[in-house]
Amino acid sequence: MASAPPDSSQPVFRFAPSPNGRLHLGHALSALTNEALADHFGGRLLLRIEDIDLTRCRPEFVAGIETDLEWLGIRFESGFRRQSQHFDAYAAALASLRERGLIYPCFCSRQEIRNAVAAREAETNQPWPVDPDGAPLYPGLCKALDPGEVAQRMAAGEEHVLRLDMAAAIATAGRRLGYTAFDAAGDRRVVEVAPERWGDVVLARKDVPTSYHLAVTVDDALQGVTHVVRGRDLEAATDVHVLLQHLLGLPTPLYHFHRLLLDDDGQKLAKSRASQSLAALRASGVTAAEIRRRLGFA
Ligand code: GLU
Repeated sequence: MASAPPDSSQPVFRFAPSPNGRLHLGHALSALTNEALADHFGGRLLLRIEDIDLTRCRPEFVAGIETDLEWLGIRFESGFRRQSQHFDAYAAALASLRERGLIYPCFCSRQEIRNAVAAREAETNQPWPVDPDGAPLYPGLCKALDPGEVAQRMAAGEEHVLRLDMAAAIATAGRRLGYTAFDAAGDRRVVEVAPERWGDVVLARKDVPTSYHLAVTVDDALQGVTHVVRGRDLEAATDVHVLLQHLLGLPTPLYHFHRLLLDDDGQKLAKSRASQSLAALRASGVTAAEIRRRLGFA
């Protein structure tokens, strides 16, 4: 029997891990929070593999994600979107921004940016502003390049990223933007965004024809995601996503940011800190039911 077409009024949730390591308890918390909220609101639950970073993402980690989520017993819809197979969708979004003069190529190396920031700090005797992740705002070196020089360097195949011209983007948006935050209790709250605190963010990397911000924004819209549930570490980044949605004519989903799990030393769990993986916990005899209980999903 053919399955019924999805009901367009049904909420759509997604869990979107990056396959650059094994999943840890923090991912389990995120996946289980998505599942609980999708159940609560009668929503569909999608899995998306965010594998734009072709050097760090590996097929065995995709397989690991599938194994771990199946073990946890989370009911995702079958099949998943892999971002690496949709670079054309991100290119179309970049083209639309380029046509309106909202992005520009930047040839700077990290070192050039560090040097420029240090020079400005020495000049002004003031600390240079940093973004919510603590990285210095891009000091705009390539924004003022002569168009002839840009064309020449591009034609010569010089490596570059594409940056959003934040001031132009905000002027184009023309008004304060926001999103609605939701929770299981039914509370809704409008949150005004301040994307300017990120400066001229990168929308396409040197090695990858997109970036996290662009791919996540385009995919949430293409997949009809209505409810984004993710950790508080991505709360500030949402400001960029809401601005991009507005510029690209895409809907803004509802957002919920869940707590983060901390290591004993108070740091956020992360693959890079070798936080205990679900695979290692499983191998040591921990059951999926215990993980659910431990994280508050009895
Ligand atoms: N892929 C991102 C990560 O693993 C999460 C994306 C999102 O939820 O927006 O951190």
